[in-house]
This record gives sequence, structure tokens and C-alpha cells, in this order.
Amino acid sequence: MSSQQKLYEGKAKIIYTTDDPEILLAHYKDDATAFNAQKRGTIVGKGQINCTISSHIFRQLETAGIPTHFIDCPTANQMLVRRVTIIPLEVVVRNIAAGSLCKQTGIPEGKVLKTPLVEFYYKNDGLGDPLLTRGRLYEMELATPSQVEELQNMALQINSYLQNFFEKCNITLVDFKLEFGIDSLLKLQLADEISPDTCRLWDNSEADPQKRVMDKDRFRRDLGNVEEAYQRVLERVLSAVETI
Ligand code: UDP
Repeated sequence: MSSQQKLYEGKAKIIYTTDDPEILLAHYKDDATAFNAQKRGTIVGKGQINCTISSHIFRQLETAGIPTHFIDCPTANQMLVRRVTIIPLEVVVRNIAAGSLCKQTGIPEGKVLKTPLVEFYYKNDGLGDPLLTRGRLYEMELATPSQVEELQNMALQINSYLQNFFEKCNITLVDFKLEFGIDSLLKLQLADEISPDTCRLWDNSEADPQKRVMDKDRFRRDLGNVEEAYQRVLERVLSAVETI
């Protein structure tokens, strides 16, 4: 399937139309941004690594009964996806306290949460992606109560699946962000990507709180060896996939 016009360029991906109006081509970039794009850089090989990891994860989630926009991965940094209307929500699932949760609440980093938290953020760079209450979300008509219920259930199901999968990789899934779209039949589908850019992943074989970081926090916090960490996640994902 050949790509046609550039439809949209985001921070990590370029989306192209294809000959089929229902199918888009996502080109994963090596560009990295953090802190609402105030920090910019390049992580060499990231596009290929994230696209490959995401493709494997989407395939497995589909098998587990989660509808996703994934169709195929024709080259290492390109993904064919079903065209969906993205809901402007970032659905974050947390198993262990880190990042903004710690900054906003004082909960210490690394605390295992009593139960996984599902949070909704408004996907809006101009407003700095604020945390939403259910009331605000309904007031803004970003999703209906039944869609929110379904998003919450899907997010928790995805979390159970991913926790188990990353355990096989000897990695702890600390937290992650999901995006969802709605297809032409109004069905919810998991969209965007699941990769070290969108998950916090801690290496179980490292006790040191800096050395264990295998995700975008290495870039955000200038911890060094960013490419190596992403590569290690890919290698472990590929080995785990072989055993499934
Ligand atoms: N996240 C993301 N994109 C965003 C914001 C968050 O992929 O725009 C991911 C982030 O990598 C982490 C989780 O969502 O795995 C929770 O992020 P948090 O709210 O702690 O924000 P941060 O500390 O990244 O600002």
C-alpha cells in the first residue's frame, strides 16, 4: 500500500493517507520531546524500536480481545492503521507512583498503589494536558458516561495484559498512557502507540533507581544511555513474544 499525502505531523509520528480512505500510514520518527515540547532531541533508532514494540503489543492485545487500530507493520518504522477519530483524552494507568502523581500529591516515587489508578487528561498542548475530573470531562462533552465506563474497563484490561507481558520481559510496568479512537461504526479502538515513549518501564534486574529506568524518563531527566535502554526493551519484548 503506497503512502499519498501527509495528513498530520505530530511530535513522534507523521500520518499519511493511503489509496484506501479507511487506512492511514503512521511513520514513527526519531524525534523526542518532553515537558510539552519545551525539551527537544533525537533518540537514534527510536522510530523503528517504538513502531516494532507497538506492533507486537497491538497484535497481542487484538488476540486478547482488545480492538486496536493496528493493521500491519510493513517496515520497521511504519505502521498501517485503521482510520479513527481520536478522542482528545490521554488515559493514564498507574500501578506504581511516579511522575506527575508524585509531584501533585506527595505520594513517594516507587510506592505500589493499592489498586491501579485510571486517570483522564485533556489532550491539549495549549492548556498543558490538564488532569480532568469526570464532571469536567462530561461538561466538555469529550466522552459520554458509557464511553468513559468502557474506556476505564479497556484501560484496566490492557493494564492486566501488559503487566503480565512485561513481567515476562523482567520489566515492571510502572504507568502508561493510552489514546483511543472511534471508528465509523462508533466502536472504541485502542490507537496511538505503546512504547518506551508512553510507558514507564523499570528493569527488575537493577535496584538502582536511575539505572533501572528503561523509558523516556532517561531523556526527560538526562540520565544518559537512552538509545541503549530503548534497544534493551525491544530485545526483551522480542524474546518474550517468541515464547508466546
Ligand atoms: N505520558 C505520555 N504522554 C504525555 C503524558 C504522559 O506518554 O503527554 C505517559 C508517561 O510517559 C508516563 C505516564 O503517561 O508513562 C504518566 O505520565 P505522568 O502523568 O506522570 O506525566 P509526566 O511525569 O510524564 O509529566
